[in-house]
Amino acid sequence: MQYREYGRTGKKISVIAFGGMRFQPDGDKFDFDKCAAVVRKASGLGVNYFDTSPYYCGSQSEVIFGQAFKDMPKPFYVSTKSYESDPLKLRADLETSLKRMGLQKINFYNIWGIKSMEGYRNVMRKGGPYEEILKAKKEGLVEHVAFSTHCSGEEIAQIAKDGVFEGVTLGYNILNFPFREKGVRAAHAAGMGVMIMNPLSGGILPKKAELFDYIKNPDDKTVTEAALRFLLAHKEITGALCGMGSVEEVVENVKAGDIVKDFPESKRAEIKARLSLDMDKLCTGCQYCDGCPAGIEVARNMLAYNYTILERRERYFDVMRMHWGLPADQADKCTECGQCEKKCTQQLDIINRLKNISKWGKERK
Ligand code: SF4
Ligand code: SF4
Repeated sequence: MQYREYGRTGKKISVIAFGGMRFQPDGDKFDFDKCAAVVRKASGLGVNYFDTSPYYCGSQSEVIFGQAFKDMPKPFYVSTKSYESDPLKLRADLETSLKRMGLQKINFYNIWGIKSMEGYRNVMRKGGPYEEILKAKKEGLVEHVAFSTHCSGEEIAQIAKDGVFEGVTLGYNILNFPFREKGVRAAHAAGMGVMIMNPLSGGILPKKAELFDYIKNPDDKTVTEAALRFLLAHKEITGALCGMGSVEEVVENVKAGDIVKDFPESKRAEIKARLSLDMDKLCTGCQYCDGCPAGIEVARNMLAYNYTILERRERYFDVMRMHWGLPADQADKCTECGQCEKKCTQQLDIINRLKNISKWGKERK
């Protein structure tokens, strides 16, 4: 397993980190011993960063980790989070997390899910969540303060410039890298740790492996291996959070952390082009369409629309709400002026897509 410095914290993190959102229940309950064994297996194989939240796996993820942490084979770091805007509720989340996991402190505490610059300003307001976490840090309950986000690369770069966080957890993968690459580089340049969530695009890459075979280099055995190689080849990335629900998944993921290899620049360019040639229906997140006069966030709508092509319609609504806190009825405002379509690098039929979204939104009501 390779390890990298998490920003300026002095801590070294395994490049394959454990995402605690994929524990599998047996029937309608979790077998805590079985799930804890998965965590311990990862620790034994060198994974030392374990990420969870108060709500993953029906609020059982932290409980499972608590069980595992009683007897871990190797030293480890814990990351959890809260999205509470009310500082008292955030403090309550922190105390619950500590209790559930049997810990004296959280190594990395993430302000969860900053969705926009307005959301960031709300976190930083006087008497707000950020101040509350700093208080907990002074008390020794939290070691390092980070944030998790689905903001654009430009927005992440702006937040990084303020220098208030020690790390960022962001969604980044081979299907959306143009949308957030700037943020990855800016956060690293600002001395922050950079943890990646959704490294396999929410499971789309392994599930639709036949569509993405071309991302493989000649020496990559699987699409998953190629996607992780792509991420870990970035020197700016500290680690990738891989959801692991079984010992088999742990063994598979850990292999990628043993053999970090360069990702050839020519292959990267080929993928960028092929994303549009083979998958000419996919938005790449390049943001050339910015500036809609009706105020529609076209790139975000089209990125969310990708999921309807690759998975199912309902995922559009999930992604808009959970990643960005955006209402789905933005699409209703399109005046069909055509400005975005003229600028779109992939020549997507944006207006039609917005019409579809608008129709689906009405059908759901
Ligand atoms: S066509 Fe619609 S989405 Fe595109 S710029 Fe015009 S109003 Fe905005
Ligand atoms: S220009 Fe086209 S491909 Fe690029 S973000 Fe906008 S909709 Fe997506």
